Amino acid sequence: MRKPIIAGNWKMNNGIEETSHFFNSIKEKSIPPGLEVVVCPPFTSLYIADKLSDGSSIKLGAQDVYWEISGAFTGEISPIMLRELGCKFVIIGHSERRGYFGETDEIVNKKILASINNGLIPIICVGENLTQRENGETDSFIKHQVEKALKDLEENSVEKVVIAYEPLWAIGTGKTADAEEANRVIGLIRNTVKQIYSEKTAETVRVLYGGSVKPENIKQFMSQPEIDGVLVGGASLKPEVFWEIIEASKQLL
Ligand code: PEP
Repeated sequence: MRKPIIAGNWKMNNGIEETSHFFNSIKEKSIPPGLEVVVCPPFTSLYIADKLSDGSSIKLGAQDVYWEISGAFTGEISPIMLRELGCKFVIIGHSERRGYFGETDEIVNKKILASINNGLIPIICVGENLTQRENGETDSFIKHQVEKALKDLEENSVEKVVIAYEPLWAIGTGKTADAEEANRVIGLIRNTVKQIYSEKTAETVRVLYGGSVKPENIKQFMSQPEIDGVLVGGASLKPEVFWEIIEASKQLL
């Protein structure tokens, strides 16, 4: 049985004050053991998030990482530094990193390997753009991205990774993918993992949907058999809205 994940990607939002408010607002609330809740603040808010989430079952993630563990890499943050800040997860290959910061499949793969080698669970983002979807290239593109991301990963490491299917045209646009279509593409991602590794590993990997998820539409995604949770951007910033998503997901457990 795969444990569902509700993960929030704050992007470049929520400084120290908003982060303190967020964690103070939800620290008393209880998360059922059948659900994993992950919040990914910006680097500068991780320290306070770690302090304020102490004792709660909310887990922390970062939004990016470098592939070396230390050295002359001005401006970069290593997996070990993230571990020191209490991170268990790290988002890798988000479409904004690929699109605005030139992250290639090779860079994404290096970051995934470094994260796993240093005890972080990568949340690997994949997703097609609108042109690819309209040209009928979604399936081949997603398969290719997954294969490139998992290159050189040992089977026992792959079991732990999380993959997020985030169609680019659904991120921050208010347009969601049709839940059944998202379920189909996520099935294809699982099948790709099966082809590279085995059925057992494919059945263990958790695959999330991301793209304009909010309290009003969460249930339609969470009730799909292949969808193991969601990666939420805008609707994860405010504690009361994020909590509504968690509450709605709890009802489906
Ligand atoms: C994201 O950026 O990962 C995301 C899914 O954003 P939003 O929920 O705002 O579409």
